[in-house]
Amino acid sequence: MASVKQDLSFVWNNYSRIPMDMAGLDGSRSALQPIWDGLRSFFGDEVLCSPAFPVGMAIGYYFFLCMIYMFLDVYGVKHWAWLRKYKLHQDIHMTQPQLYNTMVLTMWNHALYIVPAGVLQYMYGPPFPLNDDAPLLMQFLWDQSICLFIFDLSYGILHYWFHTNRWAYRAIHSVHHQYHSPFCWVTQYLHPIELIFVGATTAIIPKILQVHTLSYFGFQMFNIWISVEAHCGYEFPFSLSLVIPFDIVAGPRKHDLHHMKPMSNYMPHLTWLDKLMGWEFNGYDTKKKK
Ligand SMILES: [Zn+2]
Ligand SMILES: [Zn+2]
Repeated sequence: MASVKQDLSFVWNNYSRIPMDMAGLDGSRSALQPIWDGLRSFFGDEVLCSPAFPVGMAIGYYFFLCMIYMFLDVYGVKHWAWLRKYKLHQDIHMTQPQLYNTMVLTMWNHALYIVPAGVLQYMYGPPFPLNDDAPLLMQFLWDQSICLFIFDLSYGILHYWFHTNRWAYRAIHSVHHQYHSPFCWVTQYLHPIELIFVGATTAIIPKILQVHTLSYFGFQMFNIWISVEAHCGYEFPFSLSLVIPFDIVAGPRKHDLHHMKPMSNYMPHLTWLDKLMGWEFNGYDTKKKK
């Protein structure tokens, strides 16, 4: 009995090594080693292991991505015809007051909540372990998938509650739904409670799973990228929703439809629970079928 228990705890503690072992990749040199070594030499171990590092990285990365999509909205669609075919709404354009409003709330949210969270992390958080070995590629991809699955499920359930509880919608989530046709800056146009939940779960899930530090940083960036992409108003061929088959990933089209028809498509990134519960809305596909 004791050995069965030991076996089970071994499996539990090493959950993330299972797919790697199954793939027969255990022990091989990681394809990510040059990236990990490069990060360590570029930033230096003292900066990289700081508990505030991922917060600073997340802020910089979020603004960088939003600036790119904002440039496409402000300049690209006017001058580049090829870009227009990827725009979800040809006839709707971001206005200056919308840009101003969303940027002002984003700045306040960063000043009042995100930067102080980074300072608290810096003061009280434990440093990140910096192993010499990078995680194997299979391990890294598994970590991203499992973290995304748990994040998606936790936010999806909360999101469902926001839309089915009148008080929660009015008091919290209605802020995000002021925009029926989202653009990049709407991503973090959120009530502080929702913003703190999203930030905390993105940080805590990989911590609980004790993933490699590179997987941890990878998930922070991955989650920000697909969240901004879900709101950017464009569906490019490299969108995960188009790259990954079988309609597994929601992507910008489904989340855009959520902003248009809020009692549908509650899951932010994956579609399985929307399909299972009958919450899915494929406005454009339905039209095509008819
Ligand atoms: Zn949204
Ligand atoms: Zn919503």
